[in-house]
Amino acid sequence: METTLQLYSVTPHPQVEYWSVCKVEALFETPFLELIHRAALVHRENFNPQAIQLSTLMSIKTGGCPEDCGYCPQSARYHTGVQKQALLNVEEIVEKAKIAKSRGANRFCMGAAWRGPKPKDIAKMTEIIKAVKELGLETCGTFGLLEDGMAEDLKEAGLDYYNHNIDTAPEHYKKVIGTRDFDDRLSTLGKVRKAGLKVCCGGIIGMNENRKERAGFIASLANLDPQPESVPINQLVKVEGTPLADAEALDWTEFVRTIAVARITMPKSYVRLSAGRQGMSEEMQAMCFMAGANSIFYGDKLLVTGNSEEDSDQILMAKLDLEPETAENRYVPEPSQR
Ligand code: SF4
Repeated sequence: METTLQLYSVTPHPQVEYWSVCKVEALFETPFLELIHRAALVHRENFNPQAIQLSTLMSIKTGGCPEDCGYCPQSARYHTGVQKQALLNVEEIVEKAKIAKSRGANRFCMGAAWRGPKPKDIAKMTEIIKAVKELGLETCGTFGLLEDGMAEDLKEAGLDYYNHNIDTAPEHYKKVIGTRDFDDRLSTLGKVRKAGLKVCCGGIIGMNENRKERAGFIASLANLDPQPESVPINQLVKVEGTPLADAEALDWTEFVRTIAVARITMPKSYVRLSAGRQGMSEEMQAMCFMAGANSIFYGDKLLVTGNSEEDSDQILMAKLDLEPETAENRYVPEPSQR
């Protein structure tokens, strides 16, 4: 019997259902295994559940950031031992992008620790984006708050995605970050959409927010119109020296619930396991994939030349019979094949 492949289009996903905080909270309250089952069904209706989108993240400018994000070791306000690194040059970045591609990544994400880029930074970034794009990789940038016209310049250079997280629930925002507002984030997200860039937008859980605030965080993401193409869900990595170093521990089931709720409320978005994954057991990660996560960040260590050993991500994917997503395998299965 012939298999019909229906290619999945990543943009845009119109927001079709309004998600009130109460409605999202009710999802969180669903019995755990029932919630996972429901999320798994939504996952299968929209994606090939065996395919995992692989992105590689490279820090192209590290540390010395003037912002005060309570979770971030790159803030200049905290003593965390992070070594400051000025913006790398094009050749260094292209070298790493080539390695990422050879290891199966199809998207190369570049992060710079700025409140926002200056016009001279944008000029340099356009050069870098063009060079990475020429390798045949999708490009993503996370450079902070954008001024008018910057998103258009990045798009023109070939940037595919812009990452700009809403971080947490609007009600919890001021407890985590004082140097900007939730609305500042929405303003940059609006500029990014207007310029025609795809949006990668998520946040962090485990920052002392309560369940209602977690529901508010997911509702805020799900009500973006259109919904983000990629939704990174990070688990707080507690870093000594940051204000959230002693944040209350979050039970693993609550993280998995958050993934499942993200999948149900944003059915066509890639839900990405991001920061904090290194601290998760294989079993917990498998549960997240069951609950609808279908994208991961490959670690920086993969960007070291000559690293030919299988890394823990590849080992886990092999154990779970998962494969890197390609244009050929990212299909929406026909109902009869689910
Ligand atoms: S803006 Fe980014 S780099 Fe700067 S402190 Fe916040 S999270 Fe860290």
